[in-house]
Amino acid sequence: MKVKVIPVLEDNYMYLVIEERTREAVAVDVAVPKRLLEIVGREGVSLTTVLTTHHHWDHARGNAELVRLLPGLVVLGADERICALTRRLAHGEELRFGAIHVRCLLTPGHTLGHMSYFLWEEECPDPPAVFSGDALSMAGCGSRLEGTAQQMYQSLVETLGTLPPETKVFCGHEHTLGNLEFAQKVEPYNDHVKAKLSWAKQRDEDDVPTVPATLGEELLYNPFLRVAEEPVREFTGKVAPADVLDVLCRERASFERAAEPLQPQARALLALQWGLLSTPRQK
Ligand SMILES: [Zn+2]
Repeated sequence: MKVKVIPVLEDNYMYLVIEERTREAVAVDVAVPKRLLEIVGREGVSLTTVLTTHHHWDHARGNAELVRLLPGLVVLGADERICALTRRLAHGEELRFGAIHVRCLLTPGHTLGHMSYFLWEEECPDPPAVFSGDALSMAGCGSRLEGTAQQMYQSLVETLGTLPPETKVFCGHEHTLGNLEFAQKVEPYNDHVKAKLSWAKQRDEDDVPTVPATLGEELLYNPFLRVAEEPVREFTGKVAPADVLDVLCRERASFERAAEPLQPQARALLALQWGLLSTPRQK
C-alpha cells in the first residue's frame, strides 16, 4: 500500500492510496480534482473510489467534477450532505480494494457525519493507516462544530485512540505547529511536546508536511488524546474526560483567535474593500 500526500488549498491534505499489485487507487477527500488526476496519470493507476471524511467544502468540493471526468466513480461517506455521494456508509462497515481492507469508523464531533477510515493490507509488514480528516489532527483535533463533548471524547479517545499504536495517522489539515503551541500551553513540562514542536518548526521552515505521525506518538503529546492525564486535567480544572475535552476545545478556539493579528470586524472591512467578501465557507 502506497500513500501519496497531496497538499492543496491553503493547508488541506488530499490523499491517494495505491494497491500496488492491482494498481487500483482510492482517493481521500478530493478538493482539487485536476491535481489528483495528474498524480493518478503519473502513477498509472486506476482510480475507482473516493472516501470522503466529511461534507465540508474543503474536503468534498471536488467530488462532482471528478465524477463528471470519471463516470462510474464511487463516492463514499457517512453524511448525506457530502457532494455527489453514491452510497452512505455505516459505522463498522468494511470495504476491500485488492489486498487493502478498510474499516469505516464514525467519529462525530467536528461534524455529526464524520467518518474516519482505518486501512491495512493483508500479508504485509507495513503498519496500518488511519485517515482521520478533521476528527484527529497532528497534536490536535478539528473544532467541535456539531457534536457533543461526550461524542467527541468517544471519537477521539475510544474509537481512534485505541487503534494499534503503530497506526500512521493522516489528517485533513496542516495545523501541526499551532496545535503544538497550544499543547505546550496545556502541558508546559511535557518533553514530548517540546521535542515535537522544535521538529515541526523545522518542517515548517523547510515547507514539508508533518503528516503522518504514529498514533503511539500522538498519545504522548496530543492533549485531546490525553484527557485522563493529570497535567491536562489540572489545566482545565475538570476531572470527567468529556468535561476536560470540552474546556480544551474552548481554550483551543480562543488560543486561535488570540494568535490572529486583526479583529474580525477589521478583516471583514478589508475584505469588503477588496471585493473579496463571498459566501462564508466552513473548514
Ligand atoms: Zn471540516
